[in-house]
Amino acid sequence: MGTAPARGPAVGAIACDPIGAWCLSCGRTLRQVVHLRDAACDACSRNPRSAARVWPLVRLGEYRSELRDWILALKRGHGSELGEALGLALARQWMNVIASLRAGESNAVEALATADVQPIPMPWRRRIERGNDHARRLAAAFAQECGLRVSCRLAQQWGDPQSRRSGAARRRREVDPSFHPERFRQRTHRRLLAGWHENRRPNHTILIDDVRTTGETLREAAEVLGRHRPELQIGAAVLAVSHDDPGLQR
Ligand SMILES: [Zn+2]
Repeated sequence: MGTAPARGPAVGAIACDPIGAWCLSCGRTLRQVVHLRDAACDACSRNPRSAARVWPLVRLGEYRSELRDWILALKRGHGSELGEALGLALARQWMNVIASLRAGESNAVEALATADVQPIPMPWRRRIERGNDHARRLAAAFAQECGLRVSCRLAQQWGDPQSRRSGAARRRREVDPSFHPERFRQRTHRRLLAGWHENRRPNHTILIDDVRTTGETLREAAEVLGRHRPELQIGAAVLAVSHDDPGLQR
């Protein structure tokens, strides 16, 4: 592990992967840079249905070297400058991808330009321990650069995966084996305001997270957000993608 920088890098110093270097569904690195419309790994091309819930997925790069150091520093709560610089770089990467997709043809993509920005919520305990919610910080910088609004419709309800396997969740599962705790819940508005919010909610959401590993977090978040709104289009912007599996590359 390298030394974590205390201050943020200049945005220009953050190297981003060229567009077409990763799969737009799962984020895996492709063997070579391809045209954006072909940016799908073998696994996602074979099985587009399962991959389609969160699309497109935009990343800065793989989870390694400098980017990894910056993300680790961000998680430890090092300076807001770092979060701002990374959020800004991610926003620019996102807008480049969307602009390229729009130039292609896709109408569906057009609407992503008016999406709301949804940070993946942190477990409250970790947020209190660290006194820092880095996903929200990233989302704020991202939204500002894209001219979008941050929305916080998701909440963690079982804390981190560890606590889902213990405590209340475990005890309840002992009583009811079919009980499967969901990591997220959707915040509800008071009834009087519900209709108002309903009318104002965009049909598109961009999930913001630091690292995508298995994709489970993004999938769970998308599932909860889309449960009552199948028409909701959900994209994701993550700083880095981890666990590249060379066997699955195109
Ligand atoms: Zn893929």
